Amino acid sequence: MPIRPIVKYGHPVLHAPSAPVRNIDGAIASLVNDMVATMYAAPGIGLAAPQIAVALRVIVIDLSVGEDRGQLIKLVNPEIVEREGEQRHEEGCLSVPGYGGSPVRPARVTVRGLDLDGNERVETATDLLARAFCHEIDHIDGLLFVDRLSPLKRDLLKRKLKKRVRNDDWDE
Ligand SMILES: [Zn+2]
Repeated sequence: MPIRPIVKYGHPVLHAPSAPVRNIDGAIASLVNDMVATMYAAPGIGLAAPQIAVALRVIVIDLSVGEDRGQLIKLVNPEIVEREGEQRHEEGCLSVPGYGGSPVRPARVTVRGLDLDGNERVETATDLLARAFCHEIDHIDGLLFVDRLSPLKRDLLKRKLKKRVRNDDWDE
């Protein structure tokens, strides 16, 4: 399970919607394995395929970061089919290292997607898991948590990030 480089804010793949997966084949299974390895190595609680520069609608989430494999979620073509209420907590992102923000998220979501056998999975989540689903599904829609902050906070953070994109080598 090779660990792949995580692309950072400013990389075009993070800022455009990813394509649906048409066939869940060996290449997708191998992509998911790499995503899980990369998420655990980071370490992080979630990863979306565009974060390793693959523009496909695939996400992985594990709130236990590998401590409890029963919590590992792998979803292909996930979508939020129901949302309810509001919550707001600090979020970070492996593609925006060193910065955080508190976007408004639904308190409860129902997510529908496919597992690696092509079977439909429906998950209902609250609290951190609901935020993780929203965060990762945003990634495959080309959105980062930064894009969901208030205009003032967003502009401030984007200015800082642009400066950093200019100063560092971000195109890994
Ligand atoms: Zn993220």
